[in-house]
Amino acid sequence: MPELKKKFNEYKKKLFLSNEPIKLIQIPINIRIQTGVSWYDLEKCWKITYKDKGYDFELAHELGHIYLSKILKSLGFATGPPLNVEIKNDIKDFLNALIDGLVDYRLSLFEEFYTLYIKYIDFWLSYPTSNFVSNTDDKILALYLWFYLEFNCVLKQEEKDFRINEIYNFLKRLRFMINVRSNLSYWKFELIDQRLKDFNYIKSTNDVKKIIFFFLIY
Ligand SMILES: [Zn+2]
Repeated sequence: MPELKKKFNEYKKKLFLSNEPIKLIQIPINIRIQTGVSWYDLEKCWKITYKDKGYDFELAHELGHIYLSKILKSLGFATGPPLNVEIKNDIKDFLNALIDGLVDYRLSLFEEFYTLYIKYIDFWLSYPTSNFVSNTDDKILALYLWFYLEFNCVLKQEEKDFRINEIYNFLKRLRFMINVRSNLSYWKFELIDQRLKDFNYIKSTNDVKKIIFFFLIY
């Protein structure tokens, strides 16, 4: 824990969050609670629940949600989709995939976080996609969107070129899994990929309206 606390404070400082009330709650790896961040209005603090799985980027990522919500002055980027409406859970997965892409892009601009990010990406690239099979069809499609954005809009060209075959094969396996399960045709994926590339136009904007517009017409 002292190690983790040290990293936590170091990352907070890097992201200009030293004065933010953020509680870090470490959860044992075998407990079925996901890593995540929420704002607790009654206690007036953020709480990050965190499972230490050995790749520090996830800790930076949770803080990145707070960092992004402060830049954009919208709590929605840390605690859920930036829309003031009830959203079905399955749709939430898609929005979260897009928000996570935004968070990771912002973090990638810091050299130290980008170094952690590359390790994190390499972890995923060697992860067996067959492990995703227990997820719902929608969740797997949301994962596809997320990985697509990470590999194509967050990872920088140099690192991408170096891993181009692994990335290609990883996304191909996911497309295949989705195609078999939900019959989504390959030409539809081409449309999806084409549309996702527009993420590059909004990934660095501070204009929430532009981001919401991208989310809505997505
Ligand atoms: Zn996230």
